[in-house]
Amino acid sequence: MKAVRFHEHGGPDVLRYEDAPDPDLPTGHVQVRVRACALNHLDLWQRRGLERVKIPMPHISGADVSGEIAALSPGISDWALGQRVMLQPGVSCGRCASCLAGADNFCPKYDVLGYQSAGGYAELVTVPAANVIPLPDAVDFVSAAAFPLSFLTAWHMLVTRIGLTERDTVLVIAAGSGVGQAAVQIARTLRARVIATAGTPKKLEQAAAIGADAVIDHHHDDVVARVRTLTGGRGVDVVVEHVGVATWDRSMRCLARGGRLVTCGATTGHDAKLDLRHLFARQLSLVGTYMGGKAELIRAAQLFFRGEVRPVVDRTFPLSDAAHAQRHLEASEQFGKIVLTV
Ligand SMILES: [Zn+2]
Repeated sequence: MKAVRFHEHGGPDVLRYEDAPDPDLPTGHVQVRVRACALNHLDLWQRRGLERVKIPMPHISGADVSGEIAALSPGISDWALGQRVMLQPGVSCGRCASCLAGADNFCPKYDVLGYQSAGGYAELVTVPAANVIPLPDAVDFVSAAAFPLSFLTAWHMLVTRIGLTERDTVLVIAAGSGVGQAAVQIARTLRARVIATAGTPKKLEQAAAIGADAVIDHHHDDVVARVRTLTGGRGVDVVVEHVGVATWDRSMRCLARGGRLVTCGATTGHDAKLDLRHLFARQLSLVGTYMGGKAELIRAAQLFFRGEVRPVVDRTFPLSDAAHAQRHLEASEQFGKIVLTV
Protein backbone atom coordinates (compact mmCIF):
# COMPACT_ATOMS: atom_id res chain seq x y z
CA MET A 1 0.00 0.00 0.00
CA LYS A 2 0.93 3.67 -0.16
CA ALA A 3 1.38 5.41 3.18
CA VAL A 4 2.90 8.52 4.69
CA ARG A 5 5.58 7.48 7.16
CA PHE A 6 8.42 9.05 9.10
CA HIS A 7 11.63 7.15 9.86
CA GLU A 8 13.07 9.76 12.23
CA HIS A 9 11.70 12.67 14.28
CA GLY A 10 11.82 16.18 12.91
CA GLY A 11 9.93 18.82 10.92
CA PRO A 12 7.25 18.14 8.29
CA ASP A 13 10.02 17.20 5.81
CA VAL A 14 10.52 13.83 7.55
CA LEU A 15 7.09 12.73 6.29
CA ARG A 16 7.55 10.46 3.26
CA TYR A 17 4.82 9.31 0.90
CA GLU A 18 6.04 5.81 0.03
CA ASP A 19 5.28 2.11 -0.32
CA ALA A 20 4.70 0.30 2.96
CA PRO A 21 3.68 -3.27 3.82
CA ASP A 22 -0.08 -3.85 4.16
CA PRO A 23 -1.05 -4.04 7.85
CA ASP A 24 -1.52 -7.48 9.46
CA LEU A 25 -5.05 -8.64 10.20
CA PRO A 26 -4.95 -10.25 13.68
CA THR A 27 -7.87 -12.22 15.15
CA GLY A 28 -10.80 -10.00 16.04
CA HIS A 29 -9.68 -7.20 13.74
CA VAL A 30 -11.06 -5.43 10.69
CA GLN A 31 -9.07 -3.93 7.83
CA VAL A 32 -10.35 -0.66 6.43
CA ARG A 33 -9.62 0.93 3.06
CA VAL A 34 -9.00 4.52 4.21
CA ARG A 35 -10.91 7.24 2.34
CA ALA A 36 -10.19 10.16 4.67
CA CYS A 37 -8.04 10.82 7.73
CA ALA A 38 -8.17 14.01 9.80
CA LEU A 39 -5.13 15.61 11.41
CA ASN A 40 -4.73 16.15 15.14
CA HIS A 41 -2.10 17.91 17.23
CA LEU A 42 -1.09 14.47 18.47
CA ASP A 43 0.27 13.80 14.97
CA LEU A 44 2.61 16.78 15.34
CA TRP A 45 3.87 15.63 18.77
CA GLN A 46 4.57 12.16 17.36
CA ARG A 47 6.50 13.54 14.42
CA ARG A 48 8.54 15.99 16.52
CA GLY A 49 9.29 13.37 19.20
CA LEU A 50 8.17 13.18 22.81
CA GLU A 51 10.32 13.23 25.94
CA ARG A 52 8.90 10.14 27.62
CA VAL A 53 7.18 8.21 24.83
CA LYS A 54 8.97 6.09 22.25
CA ILE A 55 7.21 6.13 18.88
CA PRO A 56 7.68 2.93 16.83
CA MET A 57 9.58 3.54 13.55
CA PRO A 58 8.89 3.80 10.70
CA HIS A 59 5.64 5.35 11.88
CA ILE A 60 2.22 5.95 10.33
CA SER A 61 0.20 8.59 12.22
CA GLY A 62 -3.54 9.22 11.99
CA ALA A 63 -6.26 8.72 14.61
CA ASP A 64 -9.36 9.99 12.78
CA VAL A 65 -10.32 7.62 9.99
CA SER A 66 -13.25 6.91 7.70
CA GLY A 67 -13.37 4.39 4.87
CA GLU A 68 -14.74 1.06 3.71
CA ILE A 69 -14.35 -2.40 5.17
CA ALA A 70 -11.67 -4.15 3.08
CA ALA A 71 -11.15 -7.42 5.01
CA LEU A 72 -12.45 -9.17 8.12
CA SER A 73 -10.53 -11.62 10.29
CA PRO A 74 -12.20 -15.07 10.64
CA GLY A 75 -15.16 -15.07 12.99
CA ILE A 76 -16.10 -11.40 12.46
CA SER A 77 -19.46 -11.35 10.71
CA ASP A 78 -21.07 -8.10 11.90
CA TRP A 79 -19.78 -6.06 8.97
CA ALA A 80 -19.97 -6.47 5.20
CA LEU A 81 -17.06 -5.94 2.81
CA GLY A 82 -17.36 -2.47 1.30
CA GLN A 83 -19.45 -1.16 4.21
CA ARG A 84 -18.84 2.54 4.92
CA VAL A 85 -17.50 3.18 8.42
CA MET A 86 -15.72 5.60 10.70
CA LEU A 87 -13.35 4.43 13.40
CA GLN A 88 -13.16 4.87 17.14
CA PRO A 89 -9.73 6.45 17.73
CA GLY A 90 -9.23 4.82 21.17
CA VAL A 91 -7.83 1.28 21.34
CA SER A 92 -8.08 -0.56 24.66
CA CYS A 93 -7.92 -4.09 26.12
CA GLY A 94 -11.70 -4.57 26.36
CA ARG A 95 -11.37 -6.76 29.47
CA CYS A 96 -10.25 -4.63 32.42
CA ALA A 97 -12.61 -3.01 34.95
CA SER A 98 -12.32 0.40 33.24
CA CYS A 99 -13.10 -1.01 29.79
CA LEU A 100 -16.03 -3.05 31.11
CA ALA A 101 -17.37 0.02 32.94
CA GLY A 102 -17.37 1.96 29.63
CA ALA A 103 -14.44 4.14 30.66
CA ASP A 104 -11.97 2.62 28.23
CA ASN A 105 -9.93 5.84 28.12
CA PHE A 106 -8.89 4.89 31.71
CA CYS A 107 -7.66 1.44 30.52
CA PRO A 108 -4.00 0.82 31.51
CA LYS A 109 -3.43 -0.38 27.91
CA TYR A 110 -5.26 2.57 26.31
CA ASP A 111 -3.73 3.78 23.07
CA VAL A 112 -4.81 6.20 20.39
CA LEU A 113 -4.87 4.87 16.83
CA GLY A 114 -1.68 5.98 15.09
CA TYR A 115 0.22 6.57 18.34
CA GLN A 116 1.83 3.26 19.30
CA SER A 117 0.06 1.48 16.43
CA ALA A 118 -0.10 2.26 12.70
CA GLY A 119 -2.79 4.85 11.89
CA GLY A 120 -4.72 6.25 8.98
CA TYR A 121 -2.12 8.18 6.92
CA ALA A 122 -2.28 5.17 4.59
CA GLU A 123 -4.46 3.31 2.12
CA LEU A 124 -5.19 0.56 4.67
CA VAL A 125 -5.50 0.45 8.44
CA THR A 126 -6.37 -2.40 10.81
CA VAL A 127 -8.38 -1.95 14.01
CA PRO A 128 -10.21 -4.14 16.56
CA ALA A 129 -13.80 -4.85 15.47
CA ALA A 130 -15.05 -2.89 18.50
CA ASN A 131 -13.62 0.29 16.92
CA VAL A 132 -15.90 0.22 13.87
CA ILE A 133 -18.91 2.58 13.67
CA PRO A 134 -21.11 2.16 10.55
CA LEU A 135 -21.85 5.37 8.62
CA PRO A 136 -25.27 6.41 7.29
CA ASP A 137 -25.28 6.98 3.50
CA ALA A 138 -25.85 10.72 3.96
CA VAL A 139 -22.55 11.24 5.81
CA ASP A 140 -19.56 11.83 3.54
CA PHE A 141 -16.10 10.41 4.28
CA VAL A 142 -14.40 13.77 4.87
CA SER A 143 -16.96 14.88 7.49
CA ALA A 144 -16.83 11.43 9.09
CA ALA A 145 -13.04 11.56 9.44
CA ALA A 146 -13.30 15.06 10.93
CA PHE A 147 -15.64 13.89 13.66
CA PRO A 148 -14.32 11.25 16.09
CA LEU A 149 -11.39 12.56 18.13
CA SER A 150 -12.42 16.17 18.60
CA PHE A 151 -16.10 15.45 19.28
CA LEU A 152 -15.28 12.52 21.55
CA THR A 153 -12.88 14.73 23.52
CA ALA A 154 -15.34 17.63 23.76
CA TRP A 155 -18.21 15.30 24.71
CA HIS A 156 -16.15 13.67 27.46
CA MET A 157 -15.15 17.12 28.77
CA LEU A 158 -18.55 18.81 28.76
CA VAL A 159 -21.10 16.00 29.10
CA THR A 160 -19.32 13.32 31.13
CA ARG A 161 -16.86 15.21 33.29
CA ILE A 162 -18.47 18.66 33.68
CA GLY A 163 -22.17 17.81 33.33
CA LEU A 164 -22.77 21.11 31.51
CA THR A 165 -26.37 22.40 31.71
CA GLU A 166 -28.43 25.28 30.36
CA ARG A 167 -27.69 27.15 33.61
CA ASP A 168 -23.99 27.36 32.76
CA THR A 169 -22.00 29.90 30.81
CA VAL A 170 -19.00 28.25 29.16
CA LEU A 171 -15.92 29.93 27.70
CA VAL A 172 -14.39 27.94 24.82
CA ILE A 173 -10.78 28.93 24.19
CA ALA A 174 -9.71 28.88 20.50
CA ALA A 175 -13.01 27.93 18.90
CA GLY A 176 -11.27 27.39 15.56
CA SER A 177 -9.40 24.33 16.80
CA GLY A 178 -10.79 20.82 16.37
CA VAL A 179 -11.81 20.49 19.99
CA GLY A 180 -12.91 24.15 20.13
CA GLN A 181 -15.45 23.88 17.30
CA ALA A 182 -16.73 20.60 18.76
CA ALA A 183 -17.08 22.12 22.25
CA VAL A 184 -19.02 25.13 20.94
CA GLN A 185 -21.48 22.86 19.14
CA ILE A 186 -21.93 20.37 22.00
CA ALA A 187 -22.41 23.21 24.50
CA ARG A 188 -25.06 24.69 22.19
CA THR A 189 -26.97 21.38 22.04
CA LEU A 190 -26.91 21.37 25.88
CA ARG A 191 -28.36 24.91 25.72
CA ALA A 192 -25.54 26.43 27.74
CA ARG A 193 -24.54 30.02 27.02
CA VAL A 194 -21.35 29.92 24.92
CA ILE A 195 -18.61 32.54 24.78
CA ALA A 196 -15.85 31.66 22.33
CA THR A 197 -12.43 33.13 21.59
CA ALA A 198 -10.63 33.15 18.24
CA GLY A 199 -7.74 35.04 16.66
CA THR A 200 -9.08 36.63 13.48
CA PRO A 201 -12.30 38.45 12.48
CA LYS A 202 -13.13 35.64 10.06
CA LYS A 203 -12.74 32.98 12.76
CA LEU A 204 -14.91 35.04 15.12
CA GLU A 205 -17.66 35.07 12.49
CA GLN A 206 -17.29 31.32 12.02
CA ALA A 207 -17.48 30.74 15.79
CA ALA A 208 -20.73 32.71 15.93
CA ALA A 209 -22.06 30.78 12.93
CA ILE A 210 -21.64 27.42 14.69
CA GLY A 211 -23.39 28.60 17.83
CA ALA A 212 -21.30 30.92 20.00
CA ASP A 213 -23.55 33.52 21.69
CA ALA A 214 -20.64 35.94 22.11
CA VAL A 215 -17.11 36.02 20.69
CA ILE A 216 -13.84 37.55 21.86
CA ASP A 217 -10.77 38.30 19.74
CA HIS A 218 -8.00 36.74 21.86
CA HIS A 219 -5.26 38.67 20.06
CA HIS A 220 -6.74 42.16 20.38
CA ASP A 221 -9.29 42.12 23.20
CA ASP A 222 -8.65 41.92 26.93
CA VAL A 223 -10.21 38.47 27.32
CA VAL A 224 -10.70 38.64 31.10
CA ALA A 225 -12.28 42.11 30.96
CA ARG A 226 -14.58 41.09 28.10
CA VAL A 227 -15.69 37.97 29.96
CA ARG A 228 -16.43 40.07 33.05
CA THR A 229 -18.50 42.50 30.96
CA LEU A 230 -20.40 39.69 29.26
CA THR A 231 -21.20 37.99 32.57
CA GLY A 232 -22.13 41.04 34.65
CA GLY A 233 -18.80 40.90 36.48
CA ARG A 234 -19.26 37.32 37.61
CA GLY A 235 -17.06 35.25 35.30
CA VAL A 236 -17.93 31.97 33.57
CA ASP A 237 -18.95 28.68 35.15
CA VAL A 238 -16.76 26.58 32.88
CA VAL A 239 -13.66 27.15 30.75
CA VAL A 240 -12.72 24.68 28.01
CA GLU A 241 -8.89 24.83 27.84
CA HIS A 242 -6.52 23.02 25.51
CA VAL A 243 -4.00 25.72 24.60
CA GLY A 244 -1.82 25.65 27.73
CA VAL A 245 0.86 28.18 28.67
CA ALA A 246 -0.31 30.95 26.30
CA THR A 247 -3.82 31.13 27.76
CA TRP A 248 -3.79 29.31 31.10
CA ASP A 249 -3.48 32.26 33.47
CA ARG A 250 -6.25 34.29 31.89
CA SER A 251 -8.45 31.18 31.54
CA MET A 252 -8.19 30.76 35.32
CA ARG A 253 -9.02 34.45 35.84
CA CYS A 254 -12.16 34.16 33.68
CA LEU A 255 -13.77 31.69 36.10
CA ALA A 256 -16.59 32.67 38.44
CA ARG A 257 -16.41 31.62 42.10
CA GLY A 258 -16.86 27.86 42.17
CA GLY A 259 -16.01 27.69 38.44
CA ARG A 260 -14.50 24.68 36.73
CA LEU A 261 -11.68 24.60 34.22
CA VAL A 262 -11.52 21.49 32.07
CA THR A 263 -8.41 20.85 29.98
CA CYS A 264 -7.49 18.25 27.37
CA GLY A 265 -4.23 19.61 26.03
CA ALA A 266 -1.41 22.14 25.98
CA THR A 267 -0.60 22.96 22.39
CA THR A 268 1.50 26.01 23.34
CA GLY A 269 3.37 24.29 26.18
CA HIS A 270 2.65 22.48 29.44
CA ASP A 271 4.67 24.40 32.01
CA ALA A 272 1.86 26.71 33.18
CA LYS A 273 1.82 28.50 36.54
CA LEU A 274 -1.02 28.18 39.00
CA ASP A 275 -1.80 30.76 41.68
CA LEU A 276 -3.00 28.54 44.52
CA ARG A 277 -4.64 31.51 46.28
CA HIS A 278 -7.11 31.77 43.39
CA LEU A 279 -7.71 28.04 43.43
CA PHE A 280 -8.76 27.82 47.09
CA ALA A 281 -10.09 31.29 47.85
CA ARG A 282 -12.37 31.26 44.82
CA GLN A 283 -13.12 27.52 45.23
CA LEU A 284 -12.21 26.56 41.69
CA SER A 285 -11.97 23.05 40.24
CA LEU A 286 -9.46 21.78 37.69
CA VAL A 287 -10.49 18.79 35.59
CA GLY A 288 -8.03 16.97 33.34
CA THR A 289 -9.37 14.79 30.53
CA TYR A 290 -7.96 12.57 27.81
CA MET A 291 -10.11 11.29 24.97
CA GLY A 292 -13.34 9.50 26.05
CA GLY A 293 -15.00 6.08 26.08
CA LYS A 294 -16.36 4.24 23.05
CA ALA A 295 -19.97 4.54 24.23
CA GLU A 296 -19.56 8.31 24.48
CA LEU A 297 -18.51 8.53 20.83
CA ILE A 298 -21.49 6.42 19.77
CA ARG A 299 -23.78 8.82 21.67
CA ALA A 300 -22.11 11.90 20.20
CA ALA A 301 -22.36 10.32 16.73
CA GLN A 302 -26.14 10.19 17.05
CA LEU A 303 -26.17 14.02 17.12
CA PHE A 304 -23.85 14.05 14.10
CA PHE A 305 -25.94 11.55 12.11
CA ARG A 306 -29.11 13.55 12.87
CA GLY A 307 -27.41 16.74 11.69
CA GLU A 308 -27.53 18.48 15.08
CA VAL A 309 -23.76 18.92 15.11
CA ARG A 310 -21.46 18.98 12.11
CA PRO A 311 -17.66 18.87 12.21
CA VAL A 312 -16.23 21.92 10.50
CA VAL A 313 -13.73 21.03 7.78
CA ASP A 314 -11.24 23.78 7.03
CA ARG A 315 -9.41 22.17 4.12
CA THR A 316 -8.56 18.85 2.55
CA PHE A 317 -5.22 17.74 1.17
CA PRO A 318 -4.36 14.56 -0.73
CA LEU A 319 -2.53 11.96 1.40
CA SER A 320 0.66 12.56 -0.60
CA ASP A 321 0.60 16.18 0.63
CA ALA A 322 0.53 15.32 4.35
CA ALA A 323 3.60 17.47 5.06
CA HIS A 324 1.85 20.53 3.63
CA ALA A 325 -1.27 19.68 5.66
CA GLN A 326 0.76 19.46 8.90
CA ARG A 327 2.43 22.82 8.15
CA HIS A 328 -1.04 24.31 7.78
CA LEU A 329 -2.03 22.90 11.21
CA GLU A 330 1.21 24.14 12.79
CA ALA A 331 0.50 27.65 11.49
CA SER A 332 -2.90 27.67 13.34
CA GLU A 333 -4.53 29.23 10.30
CA GLN A 334 -7.40 26.77 10.18
CA PHE A 335 -10.95 26.94 11.45
CA GLY A 336 -11.98 23.35 12.05
CA LYS A 337 -10.39 20.16 10.89
CA ILE A 338 -7.75 19.52 8.25
CA VAL A 339 -8.43 16.27 6.44
CA LEU A 340 -6.31 14.05 4.18
CA THR A 341 -8.16 12.33 1.35
CA VAL A 342 -6.93 8.92 0.29
ZN1 LIG B 1 -8.95 -2.17 29.43
